[in-house]
Amino acid sequence: FTSIGKCRKFVIKCKAAVAWEPRKPLSIEDVEVAPPKVHEVRIKIVATGVCHTDLEYLYGAGKAMKFRPFPLVLGHEAAGIVESVGPEVTKFSPGDKVIPLFLPQCGECERCRSPKTNQCRKNWANTQVGVLADGTSRISCKGQQVYQFLGVSSFSQYTVVPDTSLAKIRSDAPLDKVCLLGCGVSTGYGAAINTGKVEKDSSCAVFGLGAVGLAAIMGCKVAGATRIIGVDINTAKFEKAKEFGASECVNPNQCSRPIQEVLVDMTGGGVDYALECVGSPGVMSAALESTIDAWGTCVIAGWTETEAMSVVVEKILMGRTLKGTYFGGWKSVEGVPKLVDDYMNKKLKLDEFITNILPLDQINVAFADMTSGNSIRTVISLSTEETSG
Ligand code: NAD
Ligand code: ZN
Ligand code: ZN
Repeated sequence: FTSIGKCRKFVIKCKAAVAWEPRKPLSIEDVEVAPPKVHEVRIKIVATGVCHTDLEYLYGAGKAMKFRPFPLVLGHEAAGIVESVGPEVTKFSPGDKVIPLFLPQCGECERCRSPKTNQCRKNWANTQVGVLADGTSRISCKGQQVYQFLGVSSFSQYTVVPDTSLAKIRSDAPLDKVCLLGCGVSTGYGAAINTGKVEKDSSCAVFGLGAVGLAAIMGCKVAGATRIIGVDINTAKFEKAKEFGASECVNPNQCSRPIQEVLVDMTGGGVDYALECVGSPGVMSAALESTIDAWGTCVIAGWTETEAMSVVVEKILMGRTLKGTYFGGWKSVEGVPKLVDDYMNKKLKLDEFITNILPLDQINVAFADMTSGNSIRTVISLSTEETSG
């Protein structure tokens, strides 16, 4: 290995979980990770969470999710260490602890300058189809280009990301925990506090008690909501939801009437805020209808790309608001380090989301555990050198 200043120009050979085609298990392969190009950073991934969106893109490709090019390395909820930087990178150096971001924040575009949105579009068209700024990916396997999911690809021991899609975090942060801030926890927490703007003494219903839903409960609690009703078709999720702050839980499959009617009755007119953290159009309509007609707010965090939800116009005519959230409304580069601080200061839980830690070669078990409802978050450990503490 030769070093030329900060830019080390060699290809790294490492392990990655490759999705060769949709609806097939991932396979562990030796991949080659090219050096970072201009405004790119190569990082060693230490830990990555497995998010429902990874599962959907593999098993729901071409159905609820748009079809993205394969072969693909999935994974977008991770933390790692900068290995090397490409030309013109000024904000990162080898050794920095970082969280890669599927939502960029360039800091310069009209959207970055507006407080109204986190929707930066730097490199967007490219990262959405799995490539970086020059139209190619930095990962290859058996001589073939392998696409980078959302421009990240954290199911690989090394990856390369644009320098505007990377947050530098404090050096004492445990990477095997703060990886969850790369997606699920930030999304659910922000859905409640940034997008919903949940108020003190309000009532909330959270649909779906996976990592995103539990984080939404945590957000509702931090915001001072007095009544937080957890809703899930899997009763096994209720105990954890209560630990996170749910005051009560309901299973729609155990109700004789539609869940929205049950919630309207329970709250004498409807909840102030409903947060959909499932990704199902039917649940989205139910969430909207469970809010109080005069001022209820429904936030959609669940992710589907090709399906439509139905809204009876009369349901919004009286004053309900329907909103969506992407990455919890956080401006990514500046928001994530603050969330890391909140975790380090014990304002935010992370450890409690982690139900399993597995090596990369067990990644298909993580998908199976998510599908069966046996896990909240599985963290995949890609390195033995870095553990928390
Ligand atoms: P998860 O699979 O861990 O949890 C989903 C939960 O929903 C499970 O507990 C499941 O039992 C429950 N559920 C399923 N059907 C239900 C129904 N009909 N009624 C009530 N509950 C039901 O998933 P997750 O990782 O927490 O992600 C949740 C959703 O958020 C997914 O759609 C994911 O793609 C999406 N997501 C969105 C963003 C964003 O930026 N908006 C980011 C991350 C994840
Ligand atoms: Zn995710
Ligand atoms: Zn921008």
